[in-house]
Amino acid sequence: MSGILYQSTRGGQSGVSASQAIWQGLALDGGLFVPDRIPELPAGLEDLAAMDYRSLALEILSLYLTDFTREELRACVDGAYDAKFTHPDIAPVRMVGDVAYLELFHGATIAFKDMALSILPYLMTTAAAKLGEKREIVILTATSGDTGKAAMAGFAGVEGTRILVFYPEGGVSAIQQRQMQTQAGANVGLWGIDGNFDQAQSGVKSIFSDEALRREAAEAGYCFSSANSINIGRLVPQIVYYIYAYGQLCKSGRLRFGEILDVAVPTGNFGNILAAYYAKRMGLPLGKLICASNENQVLFDFFTTGVYDKNRTFILSNSPSMDILISSNLERLLFEICGRDSSRLVEWMSALEREGRYTLTEEERERLGDFVSGWASQTQTLDTIGRIYREFDYVMDTHTAVAAKVLEEHRSGAAAMVVSTASPFKFAPSVLEALGLEPGRNTAEGLGDVDALARATGLTVPAALEQLRYAPLLHRGACSAALLRDKAREFLGL
Ligand SMILES: *Cc1c(COP(=O)(O)O)cnc(C)c1O
Repeated sequence: MSGILYQSTRGGQSGVSASQAIWQGLALDGGLFVPDRIPELPAGLEDLAAMDYRSLALEILSLYLTDFTREELRACVDGAYDAKFTHPDIAPVRMVGDVAYLELFHGATIAFKDMALSILPYLMTTAAAKLGEKREIVILTATSGDTGKAAMAGFAGVEGTRILVFYPEGGVSAIQQRQMQTQAGANVGLWGIDGNFDQAQSGVKSIFSDEALRREAAEAGYCFSSANSINIGRLVPQIVYYIYAYGQLCKSGRLRFGEILDVAVPTGNFGNILAAYYAKRMGLPLGKLICASNENQVLFDFFTTGVYDKNRTFILSNSPSMDILISSNLERLLFEICGRDSSRLVEWMSALEREGRYTLTEEERERLGDFVSGWASQTQTLDTIGRIYREFDYVMDTHTAVAAKVLEEHRSGAAAMVVSTASPFKFAPSVLEALGLEPGRNTAEGLGDVDALARATGLTVPAALEQLRYAPLLHRGACSAALLRDKAREFLGL
């Protein structure tokens, strides 16, 4: 069969190679790149289950990124999934009672963004070389906390790239902020803005669509790209761990080959759960895709009413990486459920821009049948952490707990897996509160709560946090949300 090409969800670009789509990030018409077809699993489930993480990643990436050679992809995979991951399985599955937990937090920044952002720089620089691109790639990223550090860590020191990150000041945890502020690397920049994540994301999007600035940057030898989860080079690597986890559960006898597995995913920008949807479409026997929201329950409302409405108060919750009102990757699902009709999609997206809302027809809603949704309040989130710790001696973070809670409401007879997206140490203050423990004594490096959590649970502080104790703060800049464009120009010396 011929290779897979990519097209914009909004119809403005098609026939685009994988390397072009990855290098470009967002399509020129503001849409997201999607593959022109979703491939089938490359082998039987038994064969896939026998592969280690890297071999499986190579097989899955080869299916989607068809203009990369196998050698190129192997180099990307080997560069990404190496000793930066502290667990030999890369994405281990733990049983907690009869529920499986897929732990995606054993990478450099102890949150699931590492799964894709450790490979994206390799995919991007390989793509640029294939395209004969000589300009430096400038990654502009808005973050609600975890993406920023994972992207900075991924791109730091990667030749031919620079990365500039914007985060909402006060909208990320102290640890997340410190992780970003201590990131070394001459090609790295960071600004805190006085707005929320959506404002940071809109600001970055407006830089991308600013023709004059693009031209000016191009003349100076730069081109912009994005490491946000809208890049197809982030989505594809995320498909891998669903297939891997399924295989691991079969190998350990928890699941029979072919048996249905429900998955519950703590959701913000809709990237992680969309990868589960792709895996299911490829033929992985997944059952319900359970979309778990926090108090910013815009996705829960969407799945239960067919109306997407971002006109609501933005809540800063105790699962901050899910505090999002515009879930960008939902656009890729909408594209599938409207029968790949770009004009229908453009209608929705302009309604979203104009009025902050759009509505699906009954018929369109019926095509959302793979998904169910629920949400957890901040109190329920903490209760869940405490309850599962007491019953099973398993400590989870607040994001994972949102999914664990929502899964309980949707539990059927089927086997079930919660996607665990962050180490509990990354959100130590909330986890301490959930366990009814006193906060730690605050020290200069802000790790008092981390140490208190380690003492109380007997767990070891992850190396990624240990190293924050001695790392100097390299980035302290703060600016108004209106100044993103100026900061980008300044970063490039324009
Ligand atoms: C980013 C993030 C999420 C949300 O993932 P999406 O792909 O944006 O839906 C959930 N939990 C944690 C810890 C995250 O960092």
